[in-house]
Amino acid sequence: MSNKNTLEFAQQLDAEDPLKEYADKFHFPKIKGEKAIYFTGNSLGLQPKNAKEYVDEIMTDWAELAVEGHFQAEKPWWDYHERFAEKLSKVVGAKPSEVTVMNTLTVNLHLMMVSFYRPSGKRYKIICEEKAFPSDQYMISSQVRVHGLDPKDAIVELKKREGEQHLRTEDVVQKIKEVGEECALVLIGGVNYYSGQVLDMKTITKAGKDVGAFVGWDLAHAAGNVELRLHDWEVDFAAWCSYKYMNSGPGNASGCFIHEKYHGRKDIPRFEGWWGHNKERRFVMEPEFQPEPDANAWQISNAPILAMAPYLASLELFEEVGMPALIKKRNKIVSYLEFILQETAQEVQADFEIITPEDQAERGTQLSVFLHGQGKELFNYLMDNGVITDWREPNVIRLAPAPFYCSYEDMYRFGQVLKSYFV
Ligand SMILES: *Cc1c(COP(=O)(O)O)cnc(C)c1O
Repeated sequence: MSNKNTLEFAQQLDAEDPLKEYADKFHFPKIKGEKAIYFTGNSLGLQPKNAKEYVDEIMTDWAELAVEGHFQAEKPWWDYHERFAEKLSKVVGAKPSEVTVMNTLTVNLHLMMVSFYRPSGKRYKIICEEKAFPSDQYMISSQVRVHGLDPKDAIVELKKREGEQHLRTEDVVQKIKEVGEECALVLIGGVNYYSGQVLDMKTITKAGKDVGAFVGWDLAHAAGNVELRLHDWEVDFAAWCSYKYMNSGPGNASGCFIHEKYHGRKDIPRFEGWWGHNKERRFVMEPEFQPEPDANAWQISNAPILAMAPYLASLELFEEVGMPALIKKRNKIVSYLEFILQETAQEVQADFEIITPEDQAERGTQLSVFLHGQGKELFNYLMDNGVITDWREPNVIRLAPAPFYCSYEDMYRFGQVLKSYFV
């Protein structure tokens, strides 16, 4: 069936959408009193309506039970973080024992580097992507300096070919081979935040393992967006924030994956705290650290329960729908958006260059669009007319129609607003 740029066609797609009732399970922001068309679920996911109930439950437990809430609450606080593992493991393709929720993303990547970036002798280099998300750049550079090394020497950046918008897998693999036994760690974003490219994590992980390096992934833009098989790909570690596609609320806790082969290993160092101590004996307050037998050994502090409650609420929806159904709708709605962009560009004679890969295997929910010749006025115009997008200098807009709550009609209406800017 070929796409049509009409309201009837978009509404027909919505009528056939098995996830159509989910939009109603989220709060949408309003612009001039109207429900906005929301394209920024890649930056901050919408609030699930059940989140408030989860937060209220904690507030009530705190009011009525106070300290006893640690053990007497319906969802006791002392092991609250363990409630995430089962549901989250399905989102990232892991065993429940390999997943834990704690801290925030950059903090977790730092903690993972304590365990998995241990330069020694000539093996001290880190391979990362060029123009990585700034926090990742600062994190990697500061880690290198903590070890007394020079970032200019120790950090090897993967570069795109001249004139190309994406990294080629073969070039990444080649670079890893080249750095070879000097490579201590490969640490890259699984989905590039700027272009929306999904990297071939399986192949790249294997290439890193083959030269004897550790391989970790920053999954900020991947978790809840693309298919992940962290356990099977033998990824060593990964971390992701939960407030983007996972709809957990601003600045909320990060998920962390540590492959089971490192659980219980004494030769893998770690920064430790009481929440990683054997939970049966946590309150005995013994001087010697006894790690939990799984990813929870990397826990440090008691969990921020109030903050984490909305994440649990959101995971309930992920559990209900499952990644395969989300990915199916994602592919369809992103293709429809791509079609609308192409049609509109033709109608108004504008040059919109989609810099995200065309191949569905290499992209997730986000389309990044280079608006040649257009300035920030276009972004402002969209916002004034009910469309929330994300602007990156010099003139790229990022559009992420999250399959949980965006409709095909939203895509059609966006096309009409975009067109009205030009005519
Ligand atoms: C969003 C994002 C972050 C954010 O890090 P925080 O520690 O949660 O502030 C880090 N890295 C990447 C690649 C991101 O997309």
